[in-house]
Amino acid sequence: MDSGRRGALLVRYDEIGLKGGNRAHFERLLQQNLELALAGAPGLRVQRIRGRVLVRAQADPEQLAQAAARVFGIVSLSSAVETGRSLEEILEAAVERAGRALREEFGGREQVPFRVAANRADKTFPHTSMEVERWLGGRLLEQFPQLAVDLARAQLKVEVDIRHEGVWVFAGRHAGPGGLPVGSMGRALGLLSGGLDSPVAAWLAMRRGLRLELATFYSFPHVGPQFREKALRIGAHLSRWLGRAILHVVPFAAAQEAIRDHCPESYRTVLYRRAMHRIAAQLGRRRRCYAVVTGECLGQVASQTLENLALIEEASDLPVLRPLITYDKQEIIALARRIGTYELSTLPAPDSCTVFQPAAPVIHGKLEEVRAAESALDLQTLTWAAIQGTERLYLPEHR
Ligand code: ATP
Ligand code: MG
Repeated sequence: MDSGRRGALLVRYDEIGLKGGNRAHFERLLQQNLELALAGAPGLRVQRIRGRVLVRAQADPEQLAQAAARVFGIVSLSSAVETGRSLEEILEAAVERAGRALREEFGGREQVPFRVAANRADKTFPHTSMEVERWLGGRLLEQFPQLAVDLARAQLKVEVDIRHEGVWVFAGRHAGPGGLPVGSMGRALGLLSGGLDSPVAAWLAMRRGLRLELATFYSFPHVGPQFREKALRIGAHLSRWLGRAILHVVPFAAAQEAIRDHCPESYRTVLYRRAMHRIAAQLGRRRRCYAVVTGECLGQVASQTLENLALIEEASDLPVLRPLITYDKQEIIALARRIGTYELSTLPAPDSCTVFQPAAPVIHGKLEEVRAAESALDLQTLTWAAIQGTERLYLPEHR
């Protein structure tokens, strides 16, 4: 972040449904997550003031706004100029904000309907909000001939927020990413394949307030290092919404080989998934995660019939969350593009799940048959060995 200017962000969140102790927890997390997202901005200060979070730094407010746009829980934010308490100083800030908005959003328009809105939370301020609005409105009209006052249909709204903590002037609001602050709903383990669905599922879970750790099952040498590299790139991209992230790379070849050697071929896909979930649940518990998140979607592939989903989940000791369960492929693709994972997911790389893939996978698997098949395996040892061999990578540093 460059520029010696003193920038501020007024950050708004949805207060509905936030009560009592819950609210303080939520606000604290939002504050921490903003600090993490903006770390590096010189002179950064993130402060809670009634019903808002205030960010200050020696940086351009627009740059701060862009960085804050990946902090879940924010409903909207305004990049503001912090100013002194005299009307002249407020005017100077208002001219700067209005001038910038006119240039960037209304460039060349002959007439722009506008209004000033003042909020005087600090009642010791010597002018009423009405007086501030009238006086400031008049000065801005003199300065910018294209402005025309229209209280009801203003397209440019110059706002002044006068509080004990300071005075801020802003014009316009950016929509925030919505959702709940990461961490406010606890921790979960997101299973990340190289595919399109799992990063979108992880992102939706994060948006809903889950702090995710990520895990990928890596069948080296049956799949090459491009698989690991791809998972790392996707994980690093997702870490932008988390501030930082951990990716567990779990060795999975031994489990797949054992299933190949000792179990009926048609059950391989279901048994791989069960093995993954058995490992994920143990790994998750060690990492204080209370659920596992997958990109499964009803009916998308053979392993995603209701029967097979139930069979897979049965092997997990933790609840399995599937944010995409009812999504259409087109919806998933649109979200992947919006998040920016589409390009990464479509990079060519082998897939651990297709190792020794059966010609005719079972579509409606039966639990008795699964149990019989697994009785030929030493599940405990396989699970334990996979966890012992897991590599823990810190993102985005590992990139
Ligand atoms: P994706 O597009 O996420 O790969 P998919 O539609 O290909 O999903 P499956 O291959 O059945 O579906 O995988 C279902 C889910 O299981 C994935 O979304 C992911 O959460 C998890 N998963 C599959 N393979 C792996 C893997 N190698 N490592 C980690 N998780 C995996
Ligand atoms: Mg896949």
